Amino acid sequence: MLTPSEYTQIENEIIAAIDQASAELIDISRDIHAHPEVMFTERYASAKLTGKLAELGFEVERGMAGLETAFVGRTGNTSGPVIGFVAEYDALPQIGHACGHNLIGTAALAAGWAMSKVIDRLPGQIAVFGTPAEEGGNGKGKMIDGGAFKGVDAVMMMHGAMENATKPVFLAVKGMEVIYHGKPSHAAASPEAGVNALDAVVQMYNGIAAMRQQVRSDARIHCIITNGGTAGNIIPDYASARVAARALDMDYVDELMARLKGCAEAGALATGARLELKIAHGGGAFDVASNNPMADVFGEKLNRFGLSYTERQKDGPASTDFGILSHTVPGIHPLIQIADFPTTWHTDGFREAAWSDRGHEAMLTAAKCMALTALDLLVKPGLLEATKADFAKL
Ligand SMILES: [Zn+2]
Ligand SMILES: [Zn+2]
Repeated sequence: MLTPSEYTQIENEIIAAIDQASAELIDISRDIHAHPEVMFTERYASAKLTGKLAELGFEVERGMAGLETAFVGRTGNTSGPVIGFVAEYDALPQIGHACGHNLIGTAALAAGWAMSKVIDRLPGQIAVFGTPAEEGGNGKGKMIDGGAFKGVDAVMMMHGAMENATKPVFLAVKGMEVIYHGKPSHAAASPEAGVNALDAVVQMYNGIAAMRQQVRSDARIHCIITNGGTAGNIIPDYASARVAARALDMDYVDELMARLKGCAEAGALATGARLELKIAHGGGAFDVASNNPMADVFGEKLNRFGLSYTERQKDGPASTDFGILSHTVPGIHPLIQIADFPTTWHTDGFREAAWSDRGHEAMLTAAKCMALTALDLLVKPGLLEATKADFAKL
């Protein structure tokens, strides 16, 4: 147990460690930003982060759960609780680091860096998890399946945004590919001999369009047609579409998916085309269940650095593979404002923000807040228990 003056001393050392390392941390983040790598190919970023962790004395395991670019770096006492910082570092196709994952990866490194300077005086262990392929690859889900988070007591990460929010909403989502097999025929000479797969997609699409009115206000339903035939004078024998449903909880997403399958079956029934359904890889994403005690502590830390916050974000919700992790281990995924001009995720403007001085100032503050939250989880009486009790209510 720490005395109040020991606790204050450690807090100050954590903050000073990040301040002292700030120039190098910003260089690392900008270097990752300048080398955008899409899902599962993040070799440059993974090597950069694991190289620094090893240099800091972390025991580093590279490649986990069959994912070459996943990693974990551990430091501290193996007998106590394990607190994890979660790094992301994948970029988007074409537009690069337009989700700012360079900031997420470096913030996790920074928090681990600071904690490594004080962990010998604390009970427990710090683990920095490198989680590839957030953008469409469900890297965290695969790592969970591979046992990477076994024995971990709590996890946290930050994500750049247009505002500070400690318990942001991320929707549960599932998707499927809908394929219709029809029968080709000359569209003028013998249309009656054909079975029109495109008509089946259109029937389904209209069914979905009608269904959208009779859903909860948090539900989002997307549909695009990915194949609608090859030539105007041939009855399409093959057509396909991608459909996805999102909502605040997975139970409702499952309900929506059942109704969407009904729309798909209706298309087949109406046209005689044969229906083939493929559920999207990874099985979708869970909503993020922000751990309340952890999020509240993180919020106190934000205030300490002069930042105000709301619990929920004002902007509309997206989805993330942190969702399944937050249903596996108590965790938080706070949003941190990285720009003062209006922008939004996955745009050129957000990519600029993820490179900017403003963005890096926010990244460093978020890293301090994560490290100080980890400190409290390790030493504040009852906090880790409260965290687990909150998680048990999910
Ligand atoms: Zn993104
Ligand atoms: Zn992101």
